[in-house]
Amino acid sequence: MSELPPPPEPLPGEVFDSHCHLDIMVARRQASSGDPVALAAQAAAATVESILDEARAVGVTRLVTVGYDLPSSRWNAETAGDHRDVYAGVAIHPNEAHAATPEVLAEIEELARLPHVRAVGETGLDYFRDWASREDQHASFRAHIEIAKRTGRALVIHDRDAHDDVIAVLADQGAPDVVVFHSFSGDAELAKQCAEAGYYMSFSGPVTYKNAGYLREAAAVAPPELMLVETDAPYLPPTPHRGRPNAPYLIPLTLRCLAEVKGMDVAALAAAVSANGERAFGAW
Ligand SMILES: [Zn+2]
Repeated sequence: MSELPPPPEPLPGEVFDSHCHLDIMVARRQASSGDPVALAAQAAAATVESILDEARAVGVTRLVTVGYDLPSSRWNAETAGDHRDVYAGVAIHPNEAHAATPEVLAEIEELARLPHVRAVGETGLDYFRDWASREDQHASFRAHIEIAKRTGRALVIHDRDAHDDVIAVLADQGAPDVVVFHSFSGDAELAKQCAEAGYYMSFSGPVTYKNAGYLREAAAVAPPELMLVETDAPYLPPTPHRGRPNAPYLIPLTLRCLAEVKGMDVAALAAAVSANGERAFGAW
């Protein structure tokens, strides 16, 4: 079993984690993928309170916990209601798009209206996995876009190997006011397209990976006022902790990398990211 990484040096300001999966971290549910990193995290993890405490100790004071199916969306919505520093996203993940029936989507919309639920996501397109057909994924993505518009919530997008189609569907369906590309995975070209459209780009651990120069090039051109930072915990731990479970307290490693890439002061980038988060998800 992988041990949890040690805490990094605290940030010189407060920041938040725009995307993580508390439910998987606290082992309330089995990870549907049976992914070994997620399973190790479940074994090592404690409670929502301990995760928040560890995060606060390094300056990560708030987070958004994101659903991927109906049970996880319900759990995350309820958890956000119980914790002042936690907001939730609710949706059916593109890998589960076949499960996005009208009844299920009606409950997602009901959950999205709860006061502590501030995002519809993660939704989008995943051409890396074929667990759901592209037809089902497109229908589910479009339905989630409409839910985000009706509820006034941020649309949180999972885009894996599907950049062109994600951009095209957003343009065709009409994007909601706030769009967030979660775990931004494009190059500088996609970052420019997002910037032009006013979409937020949420950078995660992979921006720190040695072989991911294209992500650092994207971060370099992304306007600071459209940047967010996330863990996607328990997945995607930043360097040097690849292969170990991720958690919100590791945000400082990714934020420091982004500040270096942008030639920005760490405190200034933390302040920008916090302001962006309040604009995207509403005041905490
Ligand atoms: Zn995620």
